[in-house]
Amino acid sequence: MAETEEMKTEHHGFEAEVAKLLKLMVHSVYSEREIFLRELISNASDACDRLRYAAITAPELLGEDADFAIEIIADTEAGTLTIADNGIGMNKDDLIAHLGTIARSGTAAFVDALTGDAKSDVSLIGQFGVGFYSAFMVADKVTVTSRRAGEEQAWLWESTGEGDYTVAPADGGAPRGTQVRLHLKDDAKEFLERTRLTGIVKTYSDHIAVPIRLATGEADESGDPVNQGSALWTRPKSDITAEQHGEFFHHVGGFGEPALTLHYKAEGKIEYTVLLYVPSLPPFDLFDPGRHAHVRLYVKRVFITGEADDLLPSYLRFLRGVVDSEDLPLNISREMLQNNPVMALMRKAVTNRVLSELEKRADKEPEKFAGIWETFGAVLKEGLYEDGERRESLLKLARFKTSAREGWVSLADYVAAMKDKQSAIYYVSGLEAEAVARSPQLEGFKARGIEVLLLSDPVDDFWLQAIPDFEGKPFRSITKGATDLGEIAPEQEPEDGEEKTEPVGAGDMVKLTTVLKEALGDDVKAVRASDRLVESPACLVADESDLDVNLERSLKAHNQLGGAAAAKILEINPGHPLIAAMAEKARGDGALAALEGPAHLLLDQARIASGEPVRDAADFATRLAEVLRSSLDR
Ligand code: ADP
Ligand code: MG
Repeated sequence: MAETEEMKTEHHGFEAEVAKLLKLMVHSVYSEREIFLRELISNASDACDRLRYAAITAPELLGEDADFAIEIIADTEAGTLTIADNGIGMNKDDLIAHLGTIARSGTAAFVDALTGDAKSDVSLIGQFGVGFYSAFMVADKVTVTSRRAGEEQAWLWESTGEGDYTVAPADGGAPRGTQVRLHLKDDAKEFLERTRLTGIVKTYSDHIAVPIRLATGEADESGDPVNQGSALWTRPKSDITAEQHGEFFHHVGGFGEPALTLHYKAEGKIEYTVLLYVPSLPPFDLFDPGRHAHVRLYVKRVFITGEADDLLPSYLRFLRGVVDSEDLPLNISREMLQNNPVMALMRKAVTNRVLSELEKRADKEPEKFAGIWETFGAVLKEGLYEDGERRESLLKLARFKTSAREGWVSLADYVAAMKDKQSAIYYVSGLEAEAVARSPQLEGFKARGIEVLLLSDPVDDFWLQAIPDFEGKPFRSITKGATDLGEIAPEQEPEDGEEKTEPVGAGDMVKLTTVLKEALGDDVKAVRASDRLVESPACLVADESDLDVNLERSLKAHNQLGGAAAAKILEINPGHPLIAAMAEKARGDGALAALEGPAHLLLDQARIASGEPVRDAADFATRLAEVLRSSLDR
């Protein structure tokens, strides 16, 4: 290659997030810093996987060097530890793109999660794994030499982890793949000892399918691989320890521990092996708009893609792991996966199996399942409207918070606890769990011991549009239309000594509602007596034929609804002293003039109680001041 500008050493600054991360690594007091080796081996193994895939269509990329291997070389004299692979390698652009920026969303979010408090930040390292940069926990300088498969020129990346790094052409060339050389810190020389290294590899990297060899220069060195070297999912179920699952889960992008492991081999019309994990912690990109899958697709042990979006529905995107097919052609391109019939068959079968496994868990270990639902329920519920075919199974899995019980309640449990004359499954939805639980519309239901589902995931309003009922019982919002509360008597009368207002009689209610409607005009659709209320004087509900109050608000919040909101029905509580006093006024002369101000205030307070702003803040303030003044005059 000719001497050009490109051949000089270039200095590059790290991206701000990387600099922040490196600072944490360089000054780390993390006690399990040995995980740096797992991260580097994981990268080396990925690099071999990627070249193996690329070589299917371009075999010349492999050349003479077709046996993939990872070598760990300890040089006691130089104080360096080198992790070398003969995988895909990186050229100059790759080095800059991958080792100077945050390569994966998990790491970016990890940096966002950093609090600045050294102690709690450090504990995040082990949980999330921080990839390549963890090398700086043990090294004060890292030199990466790499040559990309199919390219001539090798490149040298070097950094002390402080602020910047250099990239330069490597003189004298280099073998294909990547060598990561760590200049170990004085207090990290233990990572040159063979027993220590062997222990680490066996603990963290035994599942790696590429052979890992150690070269420590010690006399009795055998050259045999330290790891088993077979893909974990191909091993018999009973041979795999929980620790090995934990490490493999980590290798395939999981955080923390797996909450559920699903490992089986399907034999029949098509053959494939499945090793999937339900994480215990939510991945950071769970609600990214792309909704990408992260399950790795292999064909006969050859890695095809890490984002097999067509393999599982998006509502299972929290799963991590591997599906290895025996039937797909090895040379299948990622684009061809989309319309492939084998993929479609696998997708159907694996999805069903995952759901049935979750159902089993829900029956056998309800507490454990509740944990899974707590973390991923909002994602699984997307399936309720996206996957009509599996609606029944998903409804069976669904768990809800309710107004009547602690913990998570299934729809079957709900139906079993329904009151004799109760005809619907009641729910209240909203954007905030706490506000939902405090909805005034709940009062009448609570008083009658009727359970109400409390829904606060944005997805709830959508599936409720798609699913009219469960086992013939319709879902009904308590903030819309009529109720059948009139049919069911309240469970408890107010306790003795408690002030009890005699409810306003029907005739007086007609007078009052008429005056209020006249005072409020088009601001409300109607005013009527309510049986939903116990403590509150008034609340707003939507008319039967209109959008539910909360659905309307949530659609507006997502900019999916233009125009003005439909006018609501103001329901008032005949048993409330304020309403009694207003009814009294409504009977006399000049009722409209006397009730005009209070009517607007009543409406505004009903808006506030349902989490809406008052319509006209200045008007509200003026009226409130007026009422306060006249109450002080008395
Ligand atoms: P991750 O492995 O999760 O992507 P890392 O920080 O471990 O994150 O690595 C960042 C990126 O650097 C990798 O995605 C890969 O593109 C590149 N990389 C790291 N090590 C190697 C290697 N040994 N061979 C080829 N590419 C590598
Ligand atoms: Mg990595």
